[in-house]
Amino acid sequence: MEHTNSNFIRDIIKEDLETGKRDYVITRFPPEPNGYLHIGHAKSIILNFGVADEFNGKTNLRFDDTNPLKEDIEYVNAIKEDVKWLGYEWDGLFFASDYFEEMYKKAVLLINKGLAYVDDLSADEIREYRGTLTQPGKDSPYRNRSVEENLDLFERMRNAEFGNGEKVLRAKIDMSSPNINLRDPVIYRISHATHHNTGDKWCIYPMYAFAHPLEDAIEDVTHSICTVEFEDQRPLYDWIVENCEMESRPRQYEFGRLNLTNTVMSKRKLKQLVDEGYVDGWDDPRMPTISGLRRRGYTPEAIRAFCHEIGVSKSAGTVDTGMLEHFVREDLKLSTPRTMGIIKPLKVVITNYPEGQVEMLEAEINPENPEMGTRQIPFSREIYIEQDDFMEDPPKKYFRLFPGNEVRLKHAYFIKCEEVIKDENGNVIEIRATYDPETKSGTGFTGRKVKGTIHWVEATQAVPAEFRLYEPLILDADSEDANEEDAKSFLDHVNPNSLQVVNGFVEPNMKDVKPQDKFQFFRHGYFNVDPKDTTEDRLVFNLIVSLKSSFRM
Ligand code: ATP
Ligand code: MG
Ligand code: MG
Repeated sequence: MEHTNSNFIRDIIKEDLETGKRDYVITRFPPEPNGYLHIGHAKSIILNFGVADEFNGKTNLRFDDTNPLKEDIEYVNAIKEDVKWLGYEWDGLFFASDYFEEMYKKAVLLINKGLAYVDDLSADEIREYRGTLTQPGKDSPYRNRSVEENLDLFERMRNAEFGNGEKVLRAKIDMSSPNINLRDPVIYRISHATHHNTGDKWCIYPMYAFAHPLEDAIEDVTHSICTVEFEDQRPLYDWIVENCEMESRPRQYEFGRLNLTNTVMSKRKLKQLVDEGYVDGWDDPRMPTISGLRRRGYTPEAIRAFCHEIGVSKSAGTVDTGMLEHFVREDLKLSTPRTMGIIKPLKVVITNYPEGQVEMLEAEINPENPEMGTRQIPFSREIYIEQDDFMEDPPKKYFRLFPGNEVRLKHAYFIKCEEVIKDENGNVIEIRATYDPETKSGTGFTGRKVKGTIHWVEATQAVPAEFRLYEPLILDADSEDANEEDAKSFLDHVNPNSLQVVNGFVEPNMKDVKPQDKFQFFRHGYFNVDPKDTTEDRLVFNLIVSLKSSFRM
């Protein structure tokens, strides 16, 4: 597969192998199954699988499922599907919860070494005692419990003798460390909750900071790649691996997370959009989730090409969504058939075309990829054009249809607008036109020129279709960072016009399209056959991306 542009992590791995610091490479992608994967996760997946692949290493898919309240098997299954769809095969498939017994033993080991203690302080008190960047922390009054007392209490925590929050287990490190993460971090908490994998077997659960290094070490991961927020946790990561006497010595490396303009990516916010009905599920085509992008019509190839182009660095930064769209267009350009679709129909009757006659016209399937051949499209006395391609009273430089003007119908003839039919309210409901048989497309007619070319669909055989047109779900470019603090305020930035549904017509040869088939509708853009709502007698097209791009590489 393709390799990422700039990538300092690849350089580190290469050096580790060349200098003999490592003999092999094992990476992991460790999602928490508390939501669906999004495009930010794709960056992490592509990085982890990509570097391992490049150096003949292995990559595990590991579910970091240590928080039973938020996790669900639905998410586990969706994550597996998305990783596969992106084009990756994991070596091992693991659940952190399968290591709970081993983690428990390691916690007991820490207690025995005098490196962990049971604390009765409340969560608020622990926060208060922890101090700040400029102020050292204070010891908990329970910090000097004996090993015996700690062993007894920790076992009783496991045996459900205490309620949620009554006690925690903390690593005993240094309450005055300049790194706040080392001020006796909590490593186990009580949570009486049913776990999607271990059921009711446990009522104490390891904290991320304790569990993650152990998971990596148990799987013999060599390079544990995470995002920069975890940089300050690295000393704790190393402390846990060392003091728990793990045989394997994984090392943590951090890279900048992906942010996109007009996009929120925190799973908490995405879940809120789903739960509060702003979108039609996690796979709504407006969502930045992998399943949403798939349903929208994005391809794994385009997502991978985008991630390779942005590269991997230490800093985060926000990437223009237009760049992702650019790669989608690039990928679809040569592979998608061209077709004509009318999204807001206006009937045109060609009065000098013989009644009852239908002729078949030949049209290229993809002028940029002639190997795709040609298709046959019917033409007759009645066609549909776009409402937007007609104006009764046009401004200067309007070259489409207006009374007395002549335009070219793509793949067909010149037609001239002769008469405008209106309903009782004055709305234009039909155009009467004449055609010139001499001007048939492909005959080399040069007698006169027209300035406008418009698309159309023959009316009697046209297939009704629903078109879903999208705008960004989030209105402001920097929404993710700006509103990180306030969950409510980000909802104020949801675009009320992010979805527009219109009903029109497509060419008759589109009758048998299948879910996820992709097309370029002439002058409109790329569309995907919606896999969820398309049925035998209902055809739904999702706008993947428009033709025009404001983005320049
Ligand atoms: P969120 O903050 O959205 O809930 P998370 O980081 O908690 O995401 P995890 O399921 O823990 O989600 O993520 C799995 C992996 O994907 C982690 O290694 C994480 O660093 C990485 N990841 C998550 N979001 C991004 C992003 N925007 N860019 C790059 N990597 C990401
Ligand atoms: Mg996480
Ligand atoms: Mg999270």
